Amino acid sequence: MKIKSLRSLEVLDSRGKPTIMTSVYLEDGSKGTAMVPSGASTGSLEAYELNDNEPDRYLGSGKLKAVENSNKKIFEGLAGLDASDQKLIDETMIEIDATENKNNLGANSILAASIATARASASSANIPLYEYLNITFNKMFSTKVQMSMPRPMLNIFNGGSHANNTIDIQEFMILPSKNIPFKKGLRMSTEVYMNLKILLSQKGLSTTVGDEGGFAPNLKTNDEVINFIIEAVDKSGYKFCEDIFLGLDCASTEFFHEGNYSLEGEGKSLKPDEMIDYLKNLVTKYQIVSLEDPLEENDWAGWAKLTKECGGLQIVGDDIFVTQRKLLQKGIDERAGNAILIKLNQIGTLTETLSCIELAKQHNFGTIISHRSGETEDTFISDLAVATDTKQIKTGAPARSDRTAKYNRLLVINDELYP
Ligand code: PGA
Ligand code: ZN
Repeated sequence: MKIKSLRSLEVLDSRGKPTIMTSVYLEDGSKGTAMVPSGASTGSLEAYELNDNEPDRYLGSGKLKAVENSNKKIFEGLAGLDASDQKLIDETMIEIDATENKNNLGANSILAASIATARASASSANIPLYEYLNITFNKMFSTKVQMSMPRPMLNIFNGGSHANNTIDIQEFMILPSKNIPFKKGLRMSTEVYMNLKILLSQKGLSTTVGDEGGFAPNLKTNDEVINFIIEAVDKSGYKFCEDIFLGLDCASTEFFHEGNYSLEGEGKSLKPDEMIDYLKNLVTKYQIVSLEDPLEENDWAGWAKLTKECGGLQIVGDDIFVTQRKLLQKGIDERAGNAILIKLNQIGTLTETLSCIELAKQHNFGTIISHRSGETEDTFISDLAVATDTKQIKTGAPARSDRTAKYNRLLVINDELYP
């Protein structure tokens, strides 16, 4: 079905910063709308997020230029094209932009149109979005990927750039055991989150939350945080490392300065080799199952060393791969990491995102669909995780509507697939 019109505007994300919302209308009256998220601890090679940088509007974070690009240039390029041809839609925008990093139109304006078009087309086909995306993926890469519910990774304690506390590691995540069905795993994890709140409160600690809905009191050491989590698992009646496991996103580029990892909360400054030892010790001590961005994004050799020395541990590249095929291929070649975090706005189109997932699958790299710290009520990533059988999703704590919207969408999909 052909694209008839497109309308974009500036809306607010979960941090109060403007982002772009795009609606695509097809000739049969179908409509699809999308809003794009925004990161805080961004990788340096991420696709370009176009900002107005006008200090008198939203402290420089306005998105009127992106909106204008969308309403004019993107609409002119997409008008009359077949919305079900996702590759054509995305390639057309890439051509109009004509830069490596989407610096002209902005990856934000491109992605909003890309996702809105997929939604409009699913609506026109009268099938659920996850099913539409599954068909699109299989057609694009001549595969037969089955849909599946992902294992949720819930970030229940926030540090680093997502909170103004003294904890350096950005995310402490809990993961229900692999064999626990989605709905039950979400319930169990949420109970742990609720009990963690009670425990922190009993100790007189703050239970206000960070950007992704996890608690963010001023604890000092990473061990202290993990011990609270273990106690919360216990209080919930579950067994740590049997029912509920621990995962971390160190986001370590954020605290890597002049050759050292400065763990300020712990009062430690570690050389890369010492950081590797520190992490290996944490992994063994708490039987951690997933470790994201353990080292800074340029230390490919360190990544390869850690991957080799931590056999069996999922080592996830976020800032190092930034959802880009070229960088993922380098990771595959150099055996740096064994899993990739997938964020649509790090690359800027649905087609390129799917292509990155496909490359990871080909090489048995783990795949995790992820939100950003600045989110909206858009739940596209829930459908994407189910559609592409990534088996894992990371979308924050079970708190705040920008996070629970994704879990709630997954509950709806779960109910439709397994009534
Ligand atoms: P960001 O954080 O969205 O602020 O980049 C999420 C992450 O690092 O995984
Ligand atoms: Zn990350």
